[in-house]
Amino acid sequence: MSKKTLIIGAGGVGNVVAFKCAMNAESFGEITLASRTVSKCDAISKNVFDKTGVTLKTAQIDADSVEDMVILFNMIQPDIVINVALPYQDLTIMDACTQCEIDYLDTANYEHPDTAKFEYKEQWARDEQFKDANIMGLLGSGFDPGVTNVFCAYAQKHYFDEIHTIDILDCNAGDHGYPFATNFNPEINLREVSAKGRYWENGKWIETEPMEIMQVWDYPEVGPKDSYLLYHEEMESLVKHIKGLKRIRFFMTFGQSYLTHMKCLENVGMLGIKEVEHKGMKIIPMEFLATLLPDPATLGERTKGKTNIGIYAKGVKDGEEKSVYIYQVSDHEACYAEVMSQGVSYTTGVPAMIGAKLMLDGKWQGKGVFNMEEFDPDPFMDELNMQGLPWKIIENHNS
Ligand code: NDP
Repeated sequence: MSKKTLIIGAGGVGNVVAFKCAMNAESFGEITLASRTVSKCDAISKNVFDKTGVTLKTAQIDADSVEDMVILFNMIQPDIVINVALPYQDLTIMDACTQCEIDYLDTANYEHPDTAKFEYKEQWARDEQFKDANIMGLLGSGFDPGVTNVFCAYAQKHYFDEIHTIDILDCNAGDHGYPFATNFNPEINLREVSAKGRYWENGKWIETEPMEIMQVWDYPEVGPKDSYLLYHEEMESLVKHIKGLKRIRFFMTFGQSYLTHMKCLENVGMLGIKEVEHKGMKIIPMEFLATLLPDPATLGERTKGKTNIGIYAKGVKDGEEKSVYIYQVSDHEACYAEVMSQGVSYTTGVPAMIGAKLMLDGKWQGKGVFNMEEFDPDPFMDELNMQGLPWKIIENHNS
């Protein structure tokens, strides 16, 4: 019987997921795109039809309401829900999936709107309820988290007896021509990069000031870039699942202009997430800033340059020390030509589609809640090569 797929969220990533599911319609069957603003779903649906000839259904949904989602899910009866709304909606969508016994996938871990802290605790706590409902939840199927977890699992499976250190290296060398803009949801992005840094060493988390640790990394096809240590969510699951790990860190590139803008916004209080009174109205500075900044979904047309995201792992194989660097390079303009989106949404949306495809095709199966590295990485790595995200490996790379 033909499958049914429901995508929730019609932003930059939702656009890519909609395109890529339509391009793989033999796995996804009948596709519905639902979001808070239905006109955004309709606009994506029109573009998808014009480019692929596949018709997407659309629907309005408030993903903060479990009750509303249960009504929609019962009406559509999807085999899977792909959550590419915001991290704030993860728990409500998971709970609606449990009630309706539908498999679930997302690309970012739960964040409470009032606390700039992201962790898997509350999603992992839903493992039992997913098992009881006989459904699968795949967490973090974007690029990072997502592909980076799969790269680690692939390194572990094929190249090491034990991995001792991992550095996740995320470079976006794209230029959109604006003095300041974020490549995905501004609120989520700015909360992530303005938070304290954190890495894991010898069983302990070590906290740093924001942007305290910098190293220059020479990214193939891009060149040397200042890369800053941040906390990133995939480290929380990787420390549980990678054998013999002694240290894991995450680095992201930022240009001086981005950092100066961010520091200035922070200094004047514009990154605040608590309500302030403005002319008798309550406003949240970060939300107001997000309203002023360019919508990431509109950056595609103007962004040039490349992204390069990968993992650099060191460890031992057959008693010998070795290292492996696995990375993927995407070109913003090529992404736009294919699915009308910039590279950051593309590199997130394609893995979301691949994770869902492996679930629907029965290649990744389980009951409960899972992180990406818990499955066989090989079919995912094959799909990356086929679906627009080809990767490379360098053994014994000089860091
Ligand atoms: P956008 O802000 O562009 O899109 C989010 C979409 O979700 C919007 O269409 C928005 O609706 C919709 N939405 C928000 N709240 C609700 C709600 N209550 N009910 C229904 N729909 C809602 O974000 P992005 O597309 O840039 O990011 C999507 C997700 O991808 C985020 O969770 C982000 O953290 C994650 N991400 C993951 C990455 C990875 O590598 N793992 C990298 C980049 C992003 P409206 O249009 O009405 O505002």
